[in-house]
Amino acid sequence: MKTVLITGSSRGIGLGLVKEYVKNGYKVVATCRDPETASDLKSTLAETNQPSAIALDVASDDSIFKAAEEVSKIVDSIDILINNAGVAAKNHPNDPAIGVDREDALRVYSTNVIGPLKVTEAFLPLLRKGNEKKVINISSSPGSCGCPGATLQSYATYNGSKGALNTVTRYLAVELNNFIIASIEPGWVDTDMGNAGGQLKAPLTVPDCTAKLFNTIKSLKKEDSSFYLSLEGKKMSS
Ligand code: NDP
Repeated sequence: MKTVLITGSSRGIGLGLVKEYVKNGYKVVATCRDPETASDLKSTLAETNQPSAIALDVASDDSIFKAAEEVSKIVDSIDILINNAGVAAKNHPNDPAIGVDREDALRVYSTNVIGPLKVTEAFLPLLRKGNEKKVINISSSPGSCGCPGATLQSYATYNGSKGALNTVTRYLAVELNNFIIASIEPGWVDTDMGNAGGQLKAPLTVPDCTAKLFNTIKSLKKEDSSFYLSLEGKKMSS
């Protein structure tokens, strides 16, 4: 049985990915900041005989390395790591470059850029024992300098963090050259973040998004490594 580890599984795309991988016969190691309060996740895991969720805050190295220790007690290897956890700037969708809030921007970069790097580092021993050796970083299309939206939307901090994530993904792929490591954009998805707390209405449902993500991740090949990919797996400019 293949094993996938997903960060930020309490809700949104992360919870959808848990359900998608369970449906497809994987052992799912679901992680989130506070497993006790993640009721939908808790019931999904219990009903499908999956291990209980593990506490993992991607903005805390202590939490990340403690989680890696806990996970090594329940699985011998991890085939796929999905770095899904992410945050927007505090006034999302109003996130201009002029007037950037340094403290808030550091929180966003710590979570969205450093988080995936440290999580990958902490779980490397288990990932090295996996057969698939895939690390997927969930990015965002306006984080790409090649996306016209990058100049139209006022998401400077958030998009900057996702652009940085695309860049560090390339370095990860170079350093871990026997892995398949890519950043993938999930589309505009109907979640708390996608809907900006009710101010917007995203067109793509979580199940549609996660079904496509599952297929794209499944079909990734070595030649896709280091790239920033669309939901359908098309190479995009980072
Ligand atoms: P949500 O806001 O709905 O969910 C975010 C998830 O990330 C929650 O589970 C949240 O946990 C978790 N999280 C936040 N901070 C941390 C942390 N420090 N440690 C661990 N988990 C954390 O967002 P989405 O589901 O929409 O987003 C998932 C990913 O997809 C993100 O990386 C986002 O940037 C990306 N994305 C989303 C798009 C969309 O349209 N929805 C578009 C492009 C990219 P908690 O419940 O504890 O807060």
